[in-house]
Amino acid sequence: MENTECRSYRKNFSRFLNGKLEGKERRALLKHVEECEECREELRIQYLLQEGMFRLEHGGTFDINSDFERMMEEMQKESKQEIRRAWFFRVAMCVFLGVTYYFLGIGIVGY
Ligand SMILES: [Zn+2]
Repeated sequence: MENTECRSYRKNFSRFLNGKLEGKERRALLKHVEECEECREELRIQYLLQEGMFRLEHGGTFDINSDFERMMEEMQKESKQEIRRAWFFRVAMCVFLGVTYYFLGIGIVGY
């Protein structure tokens, strides 16, 4: 049974969900929704629709699984780079030591 009172509250639902309804208006809406089952359901539906759209637009929780995959890929890339860096460092050390020993050996650097 939708009366004019309900209709006037429902007009404010989107403002309410966007946080744009304040003070007396918001209190009145909350009070009505508490008492009026039909309006509460209507508000719930609007909220679900709005939240769903927001999450779709912002790539939120709907995409947790591929977010996880992406994160894992990044982590793998990073650890591969780490290994490469470690290898480079080891090779550079060997070259440096080799060159040093070579020079020591031929007596250019030495005591
Ligand atoms: Zn109502």
